[in-house]
Amino acid sequence: MTFFSLNEINTLLIWEMYLSKLKNILPRAVVKHSYARFGSSATKKEETVTLEFCRKAPKVELHAHLHGCIRPSTLQEYLTEKNVKYTPEEFKTKDMKGAFRIFDLIHAAIDNLKQIDRISEELFEDFAKENVVYLELRSTPRHLGSNTADDYVALLLDKIAKFEQKQSQMKIRLLLSVSRAEDIEKARETLALAKKYKSSGYILGIDYSGNPFQKTFTYFQEVFQEARDSNLKTVVHCAELPDEKTLQETYDVLKFKPDRVGHFNYFNDELFNTIHELNIPIEMCPTSNKFTMYLKDYHDHHFIKYYKTKHPLCLCTDDTVVFDTNISEEYYRMLKAFNFTEEQAKEVIKRSYECVFDEKIKQELRQISL
Ligand code: 5GP
Repeated sequence: MTFFSLNEINTLLIWEMYLSKLKNILPRAVVKHSYARFGSSATKKEETVTLEFCRKAPKVELHAHLHGCIRPSTLQEYLTEKNVKYTPEEFKTKDMKGAFRIFDLIHAAIDNLKQIDRISEELFEDFAKENVVYLELRSTPRHLGSNTADDYVALLLDKIAKFEQKQSQMKIRLLLSVSRAEDIEKARETLALAKKYKSSGYILGIDYSGNPFQKTFTYFQEVFQEARDSNLKTVVHCAELPDEKTLQETYDVLKFKPDRVGHFNYFNDELFNTIHELNIPIEMCPTSNKFTMYLKDYHDHHFIKYYKTKHPLCLCTDDTVVFDTNISEEYYRMLKAFNFTEEQAKEVIKRSYECVFDEKIKQELRQISL
């Protein structure tokens, strides 16, 4: 995987070299002023955040979909092995419709639990490599071949338990996704699985996701209400499209008051004020949002509006393979766009700890001194 930010790092390095040469020929004050253009002056902490800093910082990932975060080489291997037909263009089209076409291709290449075993293992390794200390992964339970959705969840729980046993850096929890493309019976089955395996300590709740051109939240609300009544957390993807139907759905979602919302891309003043009053944390996925919202730049993202009002929020990847990203890049791309310093970056990371569902882990995260 390549990161476009390498070019920018190069540009910064060239500037650094250029400025250090200038240091020898210009009076000190002039050089200081030039450095200030990068958002820095004297101390490292005041410099604009670096990719290295974002990589090293202990982070949480709270919005990552299993099938969207397959290791790219593994996906390539499975697409070939299963003879899935696609054009290179299809994997480059990452607006909302394009992303869901990519999910169809991914699902076409994954049809057995052996693959899920490998995909989850590699996913855990990849997030741990980026210094994620707590991962809340989500996935839509599916029956694959002769295996049931129950087998799918049981396998993931086993993988999580084994991964936690073999290392101490990253804790993992799971949310089961209800896909809005499916019917209410399937949603009830997903809830039943969440209830069944809640006592494992690894399943924390259910998520509402899937193709936003499909059914709306009110159709599934009873399932989410029952989840809440069963002491499961609820998280809802919403406000992903700029149309009237989605706007109405967003009002309905806020009325329900989920424990967190995903994306929240399109909102008016009233929705902005309401979510703020309700204090519902927002999972923001900068690169995913940039593609699906057709943003010209990360600078146009709604992150800064919520950051300024001290709203609870967390930066996340969504789908690393679809949007060619990782969690360190997400922090770097978003924070660099606003010239955030390391101190400000730390504040954003700390704010994400507060969005964690597992209360015991949240307490532990609060002890980390960044
Ligand atoms: P899975 O649940 O199959 O492990 O992960 C892939 C699925 O997550 C997709 O098929 C889709 O249902 C859901 N998903 C991934 N990214 C997004 C997103 O940005 N928005 C919505 N609404 N759903 C998503």
